[in-house]
Amino acid sequence: MKPLGNEADREQLTLTHRLRFRLLFGLSLSVLVGLVATAVFYVHQAENAILAENERALHKVTDAVGSSLESIMEGGHAEVAAEFNRRLARVGGATRFLIVRNDGRPAFRDNETINAVNAELGGVVFAPNSDAEPVRERIPEADSAPFRAAVSGQEAQQLTRWGPKGERLSVFMDPIFSREVCTRCHVQGERVRGVVVMETSQLQVEQDMISARIRAFFGLALALGLTMLGTGYFLGKTLFGPIEGVTSAMRRVSAGDWDHGVPVESQDEIGQMANNFNLMRERLKANYLSLLSEQDKLTTILLAAREAVIVTDRAGDVVLVNPAAEEVLNKSVAQIRQDGFEMIVDDPSVIHSLLAGEQDQGQVELEYYGRRLAVSAATICDGDGAVIGSAALIRDIDEEHRMRMRLSRMARTDDLTGLYNRRHLDERFAEEFDRVRANGQPLAVMIFDVDHFKRFNDTHGHDMGDQVLRAVGRVTRETLRIYDVLGRYGGEEFVAVLPGLHSGDAGPVADRLRRDVAGLRIGEGLQVTVSIGVACTETVDADSPEALLVAADKALYLAKQNGRNRVTVAAEALT
Ligand code: GH3
Ligand code: MG
Ligand code: MG
Repeated sequence: MKPLGNEADREQLTLTHRLRFRLLFGLSLSVLVGLVATAVFYVHQAENAILAENERALHKVTDAVGSSLESIMEGGHAEVAAEFNRRLARVGGATRFLIVRNDGRPAFRDNETINAVNAELGGVVFAPNSDAEPVRERIPEADSAPFRAAVSGQEAQQLTRWGPKGERLSVFMDPIFSREVCTRCHVQGERVRGVVVMETSQLQVEQDMISARIRAFFGLALALGLTMLGTGYFLGKTLFGPIEGVTSAMRRVSAGDWDHGVPVESQDEIGQMANNFNLMRERLKANYLSLLSEQDKLTTILLAAREAVIVTDRAGDVVLVNPAAEEVLNKSVAQIRQDGFEMIVDDPSVIHSLLAGEQDQGQVELEYYGRRLAVSAATICDGDGAVIGSAALIRDIDEEHRMRMRLSRMARTDDLTGLYNRRHLDERFAEEFDRVRANGQPLAVMIFDVDHFKRFNDTHGHDMGDQVLRAVGRVTRETLRIYDVLGRYGGEEFVAVLPGLHSGDAGPVADRLRRDVAGLRIGEGLQVTVSIGVACTETVDADSPEALLVAADKALYLAKQNGRNRVTVAAEALT
């Protein structure tokens, strides 16, 4: 398909591109060819007529000369013939006019024939010319085919030659035939007695023909001009004018001026074209307006959105950046455009993996200059599946992320002590249990319970009891290792999971904890003690964390039984 022209091309058609010009040019050319062919034909005819007329006139003249000579001879005035011949030479309009013998020599200039006739008749019947002289030279045409044809009896022979001034000379040769009466004086037997030769210049004829051609040329030009004027006017009125009207309306519509229709002035194809154009314009206008309103909505959404929106074109150049993008990315629009789509969050691999569809949720969460962002990106395709650009949506999820973290912490921890709650402790215990078992390491679990806590509460109040629980939690955290897993198991019961702890070390560690709790002073020097039950994977045959805990709980029960404020290790307890 030919690409659309640019604005300037559409605005101004050069003269040679206009239909009006091209059609009239083509039409002129064909009319010209037709007229020239006609003119050439008629001029040729006219020239032939002129030449034929000329020939006829010459023939009449030479005929008349032949007849006159015959009359002179028949009247017995042969001596006048020489004078007649001399006068011929002076006839106006002819460059040569003479009578020639069959052998090509001019006649009536010597006494050759008179002497022969006198000899034939036996006396001086015809007086010889006194100024006669012998003639030997023949006329230049003597050996030409037309002259020989004339001598052989063919009438009106003609040849053309060029004169000294370059003019065309026409030489006309007409035979003079022997008659019955000729034999009275001349020797019998010759059919042709001589040839009348007349040479005329064709200058006048040629001038006539040139003026005929000039007249034909002017006639032609006039006819062509009038034809083209008439055709141009008619086509302009019925074809070009209306087409140019539609074209100019189309140009205005393409420039965004929807309100100009084309007047429908006829019922023919042009009228239908104008009508269809008007219909198309109406529909396009409606579509355009609805698109505009959709665009307005989209623009409003994009401008008001708190999410950053960045869109590229087919070539990957950033073409749209909404205000939120500047805020979220802390970059100017110019900077975003300059950095390019891949560098939106400074790390091209993020955008690459999103566009490649490598992210499960179609989203990547990342830290961006101390803030949490959720980035999603996708390619945009048209109806045929061809890529027409890419779009990225970036949300600042810093607050959301903090909230999520807080919720997750709250879901895991016990409010009062800050240790893990029972549910999370169970999860972590199971994880640690599996991990150490896989590594072939030991693990110990201890469960401890504040002694006579009901009584403490009753004596010092619930709040003081809470303070005790907080203090026990704190001291446990301080006494045990950082990677030990601690949790409040419920009420005044605590559980500690100690990965890697050998059975031999479990008792002493628990006892140190027991002593640390006993050393606590709460409020105005109040004291509590704890009883601790311990179970180790090295000494208890437990195939689950629950089984190990049950063993520890049993040990705790024994510790209580045995007087409280003490540590009981499960294996020992069982043995
Ligand atoms: P023993 O030495 O056998 O453990 O006796 P005890 O009184 O500690 O045992 P018991 O299980 O009978 O009592 C537990 C008490 O712990 C009951 C309840 O009032 C108290 N308690 C449980 N949870 C809390 C709590 O969150 N805060 C306070 N202040 N007291 C609690
Ligand atoms: Mg208890
Ligand atoms: Mg208790």
